Amino acid sequence: MSQQNDKTRRGILKAGLVAVGGAAAAGAAHAAGAGVQHFAQDKIAPAAVQYVDKTKNPAQRCDNCVNWEAPAGCKIVSGKIAPEGWCIAWAPKSG
Ligand code: SF4
Repeated sequence: MSQQNDKTRRGILKAGLVAVGGAAAAGAAHAAGAGVQHFAQDKIAPAAVQYVDKTKNPAQRCDNCVNWEAPAGCKIVSGKIAPEGWCIAWAPKSG
C-alpha cells in the first residue's frame, strides 16, 4: 500500500471518529434538556417535586413516606434526602 493511500485511510478513520463523538455529545445534550430533569438513575430532580430538607408538617416526613429509603434516599427523587424532609410526592407508608 502506498503512503498516499495510508494517509487517506487515516483521514477517513479520523473523520469517522469525530462524527461518532459528535453524535454522542448531541445525544447527551438532548437527554439533559428533556422536559422534567432526570438524573442518571432516572429519578426526579428534587426541585421538580418541591423537595425541602425540613418539613413544615411533622405528620408528613420523608421517613414515614412510602418512597423513603433509609438512611438518606428516596425511590423516586434523586440525591441525598433528609429523614425530616418532604416533597409533593409524599404518600403514607401502608401498614
Ligand atoms: S416525601 Fe417521599 S417521595 Fe418525597 S422526597 Fe421524601 S421520601 Fe421521597
